Amino acid sequence: MSRLIYADNAATTQMDIAAFEAMKPFLTNEYGNASQPYAFARKPKKALQDARETIASCIGAAPEEIFFTSGGTESDNWAIKGSALLNAHKHATVTSAFEHHAVLHPCKSLERSGYPVAYMWPSREGYITAEILKEYITSQTYLTSVMFANNEIGTVQPIKELCAVAHENGSLFHTDAVQAVGHIPVDVHDLGTDMLSASAHKFNGPKGVGFLYIRSGLKVMPYSDGGAQEFGLRAGTENVAGIVGMAVALKNNCDALEENARYVEGLEARLARMLDNSGIKYVRNGGKSRLPGLISLSFPDADGEAILHRLDLTGICISTGSACNSKNTEISHVLQAIRLEDNYAKGTVRVSLGKSNTEEDVEALFKALMKIFRA
Ligand code: PLP
Repeated sequence: MSRLIYADNAATTQMDIAAFEAMKPFLTNEYGNASQPYAFARKPKKALQDARETIASCIGAAPEEIFFTSGGTESDNWAIKGSALLNAHKHATVTSAFEHHAVLHPCKSLERSGYPVAYMWPSREGYITAEILKEYITSQTYLTSVMFANNEIGTVQPIKELCAVAHENGSLFHTDAVQAVGHIPVDVHDLGTDMLSASAHKFNGPKGVGFLYIRSGLKVMPYSDGGAQEFGLRAGTENVAGIVGMAVALKNNCDALEENARYVEGLEARLARMLDNSGIKYVRNGGKSRLPGLISLSFPDADGEAILHRLDLTGICISTGSACNSKNTEISHVLQAIRLEDNYAKGTVRVSLGKSNTEEDVEALFKALMKIFRA
């Protein structure tokens, strides 16, 4: 069996060992319920407080602006439904056509309840610019939601400018920053965003835990009703171990943000150089402002799903942008939104390198691709 080469870090990441170690006590001896008043609950309660402070400091927020959730999907659902349903006068939401389904599906759900949603088309390079937003936003727009970085093509959006346009037009702004937090600088107050979603497993934390930043003073509907946890807005006993692991992982990533980005960009450049020199015909999707390590490659007249399976047979994990059903190839909504020609879209794969990848991984991936295309 060949060595596993994991190049799908946009799907999930390897757990940070220090984060895992920090979680252990709260899964074993320190199992007290943080809401209880007795001494045995003090450690978990303090751990939650510390985690909230750590996470807040990593994104330039105040601790009381961090709300723990079960991950990116919950954070997105909460931000979108929880704010849109609250305003009696304005009902419209603007989002982009290439958001993750964790944003698109709650938007569809709003539409079914009679709340209009406009879906902005990005540029062919994969950007929602301020000019594009100005075409869609109206005086009825209550919420504008644009992802920080696209999970399929990696393009990083001009969030600060988009926030400014939203606010000038009286709209709140939310960003799904699931792919960005822990990988590129994120400062909520500098950006001016009202809400921001993040997920621990995308930055070397555990699965099933995340957070939603909600700007202080902003009113949103509770995500769940019940106990008084999360300032009375998200009822349910806290996942203390998960939250502790998330905070440690985020702090570690943020402390080494530039170093990690430079390292991963080096690997990425190496792969691009080898591909360019190989003579294999391909395009790289997305413009210049991109997440480090996320490479969306389209090979004309190839089959992305077949490439994925061929690589899988050699122990290499990547993703694709198209999936075959029994009748035809379904092209992802992201590739459709950037209007990629069908023959390129069908041959699209996403390689997402992370800090655990090595030069040997990149070389093995390149060699495996060569085998496929030279066969
Ligand atoms: N938003 C984006 C951009 C994502 O990439 C993902 C996960 O792939 C999610 C939301 C959902 O996050 P989670 O898996 O934590 O629910």
